[in-house]
Amino acid sequence: MSLYKEEQYQISYAKHNWSCQVCGNPANQIAHLIPQRKWLIEKYGERVINHNDNLLPACSLKCNDKLQLSQWQWEKKAEQIKKIIEN
Ligand SMILES: [Zn+2]
Repeated sequence: MSLYKEEQYQISYAKHNWSCQVCGNPANQIAHLIPQRKWLIEKYGERVINHNDNLLPACSLKCNDKLQLSQWQWEKKAEQIKKIIEN
């Protein structure tokens, strides 16, 4: 895992008190709002996909799936994160 990704994961866990953002159980994984797929990393950049604003803690694959945004929301989310990175 890259240092950037590791740092962003830790920020996300800390921001959300290490709790699953669906059910509140202790988190053991990170969900990507814009999914971490190769073509999406190529489209938006790794700094967007692994930015803490694109990450939320989850406790299971079931909860992880619920946190993923619908495809129509990806572009807007990516634009928001790009603005944060650029500022
Ligand atoms: Zn959960």
